[in-house]
Amino acid sequence: MRKAYIAGNWKMNMTPSEGVAFAKELAEAVKGLDTKVMVAPPFVTIPAVVEALKGSSIIVAAQNMSDNLSGAFTGEVSALMLKDLGVTNVILGHSERRSLYGETDQFINKKVLLALAQGMDVDLCIGETLEEREAGKLEEVLTRQVTEGLKGVSAEDMAHITLAYEPVWAIGTGKTATPEDADDAHAFIRKLIEKLYTKGVAEELIIQYGGSVKASNVKALMSKEHIDGALVGGASLSVEQFLPIVAFDK
Ligand code: PEP
Repeated sequence: MRKAYIAGNWKMNMTPSEGVAFAKELAEAVKGLDTKVMVAPPFVTIPAVVEALKGSSIIVAAQNMSDNLSGAFTGEVSALMLKDLGVTNVILGHSERRSLYGETDQFINKKVLLALAQGMDVDLCIGETLEEREAGKLEEVLTRQVTEGLKGVSAEDMAHITLAYEPVWAIGTGKTATPEDADDAHAFIRKLIEKLYTKGVAEELIIQYGGSVKASNVKALMSKEHIDGALVGGASLSVEQFLPIVAFDK
């Protein structure tokens, strides 16, 4: 039985003081809910949010991390630093990292292996652009991103991986994949994981959907067999919008 997992990616929003106010309000609001909840603040906001969420079940993740543990890498943040703050999870391969900062599948894979070696859980984002979808390359792109992104990840370590299927054309655009289209993509990904690993690994894997998820569409998405959660951008920035997503089954 896969437990619902709703995550909020704050991107480059929320100062430390805004993050604290949000975290406290959210922690209070999710008390008693059975859903796994994660928030991913910007790096500088993380310490304040970790502190504010002490005693809460809400997970704090980083939105990215360096492919190295320490050294002369100006502007980077390492897994060691994140762990020292109490951060247990990291989002890797977000489409904005891929498209704006040129992150390749190989580079993302290096970070995935590093995060796992450091005992962190990874939320690995995959998804096609509109151009790729219209060219009939959806399955080819997902196969490449999954196979390359998870290269060298053992079946055992798959327990520390969540996949987030985020069609790039649906991120921040207000366009959502239909629940049927999203579920088809998720089913394809799960089959692929079964081929790469085992049926057991595939059945346990949490696959989130991301791309303009909001209160009005979350129920329909979450009712689909292969959609186990959501990675939410815009609608994760206010408790008013995020809470109904987290509490989609209420
Ligand atoms: C995201 O950035 O992961 C995302 C899904 O954003 P939005 O919900 O705003 O489309």
